[in-house]
Amino acid sequence: MADSLRGLAGDFKRFLAAQEEEELLDISRPREDAPALSPAALHQAGAFAAQAAPKMAENSTLKVDFPRAQPQPAPEENPVNKTDKTRALADLAEVIKTCTRCPLGATRLNAVPGEGNVNADVMFVGEGPGFDEDRQGRPFVGRAGQLLDKMILAMGLAREKVFIANIAKCHPMVDPLHPEKHGNDRAPNAQEIACCRKYIEQQIAIVCPKYVIALGGVAAKALISDAASLGALRGKFHNLHLDSVQLPKPVQIIATYHPAALLRNPNWKKDAWQDLQMVMDQLGLKGARK
Ligand code: SF4
Repeated sequence: MADSLRGLAGDFKRFLAAQEEEELLDISRPREDAPALSPAALHQAGAFAAQAAPKMAENSTLKVDFPRAQPQPAPEENPVNKTDKTRALADLAEVIKTCTRCPLGATRLNAVPGEGNVNADVMFVGEGPGFDEDRQGRPFVGRAGQLLDKMILAMGLAREKVFIANIAKCHPMVDPLHPEKHGNDRAPNAQEIACCRKYIEQQIAIVCPKYVIALGGVAAKALISDAASLGALRGKFHNLHLDSVQLPKPVQIIATYHPAALLRNPNWKKDAWQDLQMVMDQLGLKGARK
């Protein structure tokens, strides 16, 4: 086991070192392969476990009609596995916080690596930080985040039991010269996603959840298919394939609406709830049903 841990640490040090190489700063080459945690190392992490902001409408309301459910008890966690993953995610977060691979790095206030349970069964992935997230350096802490918290509770989970992150780690702004402005959010563009995607891929590979829930069309298309619309991607499970790292075990992904879109269009909540129930059924979660 000690050799395996040393191997994993070595792989990750090489990954971190690679972030500093000039070739990785070339944003004109999207989706270049970066040194990644080796499949063997990531498989080992899985083996240990086996052993043991988009723009928001001005008048949107936080009135939520997602049903409430009693959170389920947390599964027993393997402390070796948890320590290993925690260290890897913390190292990766430090890289993200100083990253300037794309222009967003020059205008952000704080990078937003992501946060949550390192042994989560469910990982939520949005498109990028918004105004509040940029200021706090945490994902989904604004009005859309409050709705996401309610969605998570309705599933019978809790924020502390899932992992939450974004495709882009820095705040994409319509007017980067005025970061103090509200309503200045935009989705990350293709070049920014290409530059940043290896970070979310590494996070998914380290946490290795059972299910990823892509929030909104930008995240869904980035992780599932560039071509299809959110409508075409919703309502079914997809096998997740990553570009820069091999998953230690299969991960499935579904797509649903971004909470900010649900704030603008509350009539979509019923469809979003049906999406979440697909994952709940697979995990045996006893969330309240509508
Ligand atoms: S958005 Fe991603 S790639 Fe761009 S600077 Fe931030 S962390 Fe780096």
